[in-house]
Amino acid sequence: MSNKKRNWKPQTALVHSGTLRSGFGETSEAMYLTQGYVYQTAQAAEARFKGEEPGFIYSRYANPTVDMFEKRMCALEGAEDARATASGMAAVTAALLCSVKAGDHIVAARALFGSCRWVVETLAPRYGIEATLVDGTDIANWEKAVRPNTRLFFLESPTNPTLEVVDIAAVAALANSIGARLVVDNVFATPLQQKPLQLGAHIVVYSATKHIDGQGRCLGGVILSDKKWIDENLHDYFRHTGPSLSPFNAWTLLKGLETLPLRVRQQTESAGKIADFLAEQSQIARVIYPGRADHPQAEIVKKQMSGGSTLICLDVNGGKQAAFALQNALDIVLISNNLGDAKSLITHPATTTHKNLSDEARAELGIGPGTLRLSVGLEDTDDLLEDIAQALKAAK
Ligand SMILES: *Cc1c(COP(=O)(O)O)cnc(C)c1O
Repeated sequence: MSNKKRNWKPQTALVHSGTLRSGFGETSEAMYLTQGYVYQTAQAAEARFKGEEPGFIYSRYANPTVDMFEKRMCALEGAEDARATASGMAAVTAALLCSVKAGDHIVAARALFGSCRWVVETLAPRYGIEATLVDGTDIANWEKAVRPNTRLFFLESPTNPTLEVVDIAAVAALANSIGARLVVDNVFATPLQQKPLQLGAHIVVYSATKHIDGQGRCLGGVILSDKKWIDENLHDYFRHTGPSLSPFNAWTLLKGLETLPLRVRQQTESAGKIADFLAEQSQIARVIYPGRADHPQAEIVKKQMSGGSTLICLDVNGGKQAAFALQNALDIVLISNNLGDAKSLITHPATTTHKNLSDEARAELGIGPGTLRLSVGLEDTDDLLEDIAQALKAAK
C-alpha cells in the first residue's frame, strides 16, 4: 500500500510514505545494514548493472533503508526525487558543486551557516567558481550582483542566528529570468513551515541532523529536486564521491520523521510564548522571532511561512558578560550549539558558531556581543518560562 501515490497530509505521509516491507511483514521499517547485494545468477547481475532490472547494487549508490527515508522526504517536500547524505554539509556541498563549473558565478545571501559560507567563499573559488555575497533581505542587492555568468543563487531563510527572512519567490523569479538555479537551505524553517519548491526554488537542502532527527542522535542530510536535475547533475557525483547516508542513520531519521509534525508544532508554540515573554523584559534589548508582528520582514514571513519558528534570537543588554551570565544561570536550557533538538539549547554565536567571522562581518549580520540564539525544545512551556525568568533574575 505504501508505495502508491496518495494525497496524504504530512502527518500521515511521515508515518507511512516510502515504506518497503520485507517478506516478514514487519510493522516498523527494517534496518538493512548491508554494503552489497547478491544476485541469483550472473545474468541477473549483468542485467542489474545494465539498468535492465530494478534492484540495489551497492549501498554507496542506494540502500533500501536510505531509499525509504528519501521517499518519505519527497512525499513531505512534494519533490520528485531526493538523495540522502551523511550530513547537512555533504548535502549543501553536493547541491552547490553539482550546479556549477569553473567560470560560473554564484550569488549567495551573506547570512549563511558558517560552513556553507566557507564552501561558497573559500572552497568554490579554488575551482574557478566566483561568489558574491549580498544582504539577501533586499531583492535589489541580488539583482545588482548578477553577472553574465551567474548560474546559481543560494540562500538560507530564516537565517542563522538572526532569523532574517529572504523573499524566496522573488529570488526564484530572478533566477528563472536569467536561466540560473536557486538552492534553498531550509533547515531553520523545517519542511513543515516552508515549501521552497512551491515558491519557485529548484533545489532544497536539509541538515537532517536538526529537526528531522530532533533528538540529538545522528548526523544526516538530504537534497531534493526534480528528477531530471538529480539524474543529470547529481547522480554520478553521488555514486562516485560517496557522501551517502548510512542505513543506521537513515533508520534513525525515518523514525524522527514520524514525530516531526508533533515536535515542530509543540516547539513552535512554546517558542512563540517565550519570544513574547522575552520581548517584555527590560534586560532584553531585542527579540527577533518570525512569528511576531515586529519581525523586520513580517510581511514576507506571512507570505512564505506557515508557522513561526522553533528558534528565537535575542540581544541581552550588557553585552558578552550579561549574555554569558544568563546562559550560565539557566537550569533546564542547556548551552549547546546544536538546534532543533528535544532539549532546549542556547548558544552565544559571537564566541561559538560565528567566532571565525571578522568583527565587521558579524556586525553586518546583526550579531553583537549580547546576541544569543535559543532553540526551544519539547519541555513543558511553563517550566521553560520559569527557567528563563529565574535566570534573568539571577543574571541581573
Ligand atoms: C546544521 C546546519 C547545516 C549543516 O548540517 P550538518 O548536519 O551539521 O552537517 C547547514 N545549514 C544549516 C542552516 C544548519 O543549521
